[in-house]
Amino acid sequence: MQNAVLHIADVNKNFGGLRALSNIDLQVMEGMTHAIIGPNGAGKSTLLNVCIGRLAPDSGAVVFDGEVITGKRPYEINQLGVARVFQTPEIFPDLSLLQNVMIPAFARRDGAFRLNAWQVAARQGELIEEAEHWLEDVGLVEQKDRLASNLSRGDKRRLELAMGLVQKPRLLLLDEPTAGMSRHDTNATIDLLQKIKKRGMTKVIIEHDMHVVFSLADRVTVLAQGAVIADGKPDEVRGNPVVQEAYLGGSH
Ligand code: ADP
Ligand code: MG
Repeated sequence: MQNAVLHIADVNKNFGGLRALSNIDLQVMEGMTHAIIGPNGAGKSTLLNVCIGRLAPDSGAVVFDGEVITGKRPYEINQLGVARVFQTPEIFPDLSLLQNVMIPAFARRDGAFRLNAWQVAARQGELIEEAEHWLEDVGLVEQKDRLASNLSRGDKRRLELAMGLVQKPRLLLLDEPTAGMSRHDTNATIDLLQKIKKRGMTKVIIEHDMHVVFSLADRVTVLAQGAVIADGKPDEVRGNPVVQEAYLGGSH
């Protein structure tokens, strides 16, 4: 049987009288690219924030790799192997691309934060090589010495992706990867995510643009007004009239 890497178990969250999340129950299976989509205000960001420990649910639990992570702090959840990219963490604008990717490599579970200065110095060459490897993967290695602030918006997303991948997370959460992008950068980001998909890492993509996810997702869960209204393979979900209605009726 397939393994659920993430299980969002009957989660509820209210903001005052507003039901932002209503009995959300979903499982993300090992190796899948699982998209969570829905019109603006559907509850996607709230759900993501519950998963990474920024928000506590009113009831229900989040289980990661068989362990309840509800109540843990964001950095603890990150240390367990959940990485979130896009929107936050921001890149470090005054550092080079190489330095930007080395920082999360240092910070990860087996990283250099636990080492003394001598050990860090000894590992530096190895970390540089590793950072270069991921920069190459996202197509930025030739620009590794540039300052991150000089990158185009699309290239910043590439950099953020390398910063996520270098952590070798068990679960990678992609938070609206194409938000605010031009059509050109959106297409380039989709191409990049398709390439990364071949690595088989378990991923959750939060996205409000339906078109972005259909070329990437193995499974799609649709939220509207805080509830799951559809869940299944992309083709099943795309043809679902309830989903069409939610998008047309929403603010999107
Ligand atoms: P999405 O990311 O799908 O656009 P959100 O999760 O941001 O949706 O928001 C879901 C609903 O919860 C919206 O109606 C939003 O206005 C409301 N909401 C989100 N965060 C808060 C908050 N901190 N306080 C009050 N209402 C909130
Ligand atoms: Mg949102």
